[in-house]
Amino acid sequence: DRIPLKRALISVSDKTGLLDFARALSARGVELLSTGGTAKALRESGLTVKDVAEVTGFPEMMDGRVKTLHPVVHGGLLALRDNEEHMAAARSHGIEMIDLLVVNLYPFEATVAKGADYDDCIENIDIGGPAMIRAASKNHAFVTVVVDVQDYAAVLAELDANDDMTSYGFRQRQAQIAYARTAAYDAAVSTWMAAQIGEAAPRRRAFAGELAQTLRYGENPHQQAAFYRDGSDRPGVATARQWQGKELSYNNINDTDAAFELVVEFDPAQGPAVAIIKHANPCGVARGDSAVDAYRRAFDCDRTSAFGGIIALNTRLDGETAKAITEIFTEVVIAPDATDKAKEIFAAKKNLRLLTTGGLPDAKAPGLSFRQVTGGFLVQGRDNGVILPSDLKVVTQRQPSQAELQDLLFAWTVAKHVKSNAIVYARDLATVGIGAGQMSRVDSTRIGKRKSEDMAEVLGLAQALTIGSAVASDAFFPFADGIEALAEAGAKAVIQPGGSMRDDEVIATADRLGLAMVFTGQRHFRH
Ligand code: 5GP
Repeated sequence: DRIPLKRALISVSDKTGLLDFARALSARGVELLSTGGTAKALRESGLTVKDVAEVTGFPEMMDGRVKTLHPVVHGGLLALRDNEEHMAAARSHGIEMIDLLVVNLYPFEATVAKGADYDDCIENIDIGGPAMIRAASKNHAFVTVVVDVQDYAAVLAELDANDDMTSYGFRQRQAQIAYARTAAYDAAVSTWMAAQIGEAAPRRRAFAGELAQTLRYGENPHQQAAFYRDGSDRPGVATARQWQGKELSYNNINDTDAAFELVVEFDPAQGPAVAIIKHANPCGVARGDSAVDAYRRAFDCDRTSAFGGIIALNTRLDGETAKAITEIFTEVVIAPDATDKAKEIFAAKKNLRLLTTGGLPDAKAPGLSFRQVTGGFLVQGRDNGVILPSDLKVVTQRQPSQAELQDLLFAWTVAKHVKSNAIVYARDLATVGIGAGQMSRVDSTRIGKRKSEDMAEVLGLAQALTIGSAVASDAFFPFADGIEALAEAGAKAVIQPGGSMRDDEVIATADRLGLAMVFTGQRHFRH
């Protein structure tokens, strides 16, 4: 299965590393065939190279749209060398075999990224390149394909190890890489076109991710897993820099994303905010006068659950906060930035992973979110809904106080990031009880209350902090029993979307129990 390289076709837009690679091939007796710009570069460096135009008998034409699209090229890539009919056809049409194809494509992605106009982007859609890559990859039984300048060294190493030949396994791997490249390329074109058309969600979406990391396992050890980047430049776990600690696991990545996406809802200009996450749900979120203050207040919501959690900050991690964090076991800390002092403190905790994102994403930015179902996947816009005080409608006799209003909006923002049914109790811009992921809203209400009572015991408080709290519910209360449960927990103010058939009953109950209630008109299901 080892094949010698006699003839190579090189056609590259990115000419990085080209000359050294071509020289090394030439020194091994490989004949070089090239398109216009590539041939020129090779010739100028003193290499002997044949023009594709000479082989096809056609000049490159139509602004380069047609260069290599010719049977002489594609026959040379696609012919099965062990098939008599293929070889006879090749001989009778003067088609010579091509054993190595080196192509990198017109820089479509870079052209889009630099903000080029429509026509310029269109002109940068490579046609002949992908066609040749697909042909060579299909015929990997005989042909070696290279689509990435980073693979030049691997080709030379392969030749060194195989008496100037390539092995079947190597060609197969290169073909796999090549198809991933053309898939990603077409996905980039499709995504760009969707944006040009102005579609919120592309009608057909080509998935193309770049492998960021092969994971040890998935959610459980018997599941295989990998982490892919989708090319988005949104600051977050996929683009963050890891300073220390073990490799991130599947669950770490999922939870770190949940933590960071929650905490960036809070504008750092209005003070630091910290979120502690377990299993993608917050077990404590708080704002504070300082980062360490916010951390301690978030921690005090549910100290028991915070153990082994993931912590996100909306502000730079400083030494004092780092020190407080190291008092218990934490899996991951993510922040836009970290001071040298903080890094130094964490260095003593070898297993603690520290990630910095270099910035904060816009919580209100549009985007897409995906969920897999059997046989397909669901796509929706990311939940970027944000409520302003002016959006709120007071529906009870009692008006919320200014302080309650602040806590209501804070709790509401947290509830958006809690699995439904979500109930979030807050006081003084800190969560004091969270009920997550229950199938009944009353259960979430009771769980939040009970957790707060447990914490009151841990903290040695006379009573649970839900007494006098403001509460958010991610969706409307279908019955009045939820409001009764909130009143039992001692809550004084409620924020919820409204819109239930029984809103009248729910409002009457709130009035009877002396609660202030506001409607947002917006729901934050998170199933
Ligand atoms: P060069 O710099 O050698 O003139 O052009 C190299 C680029 O042309 C490569 O990116 C290659 O993928 C692309 N290319 C090769 N053949 C064709 C073709 O027939 N049509 C188009 N549109 N691009 C081609």
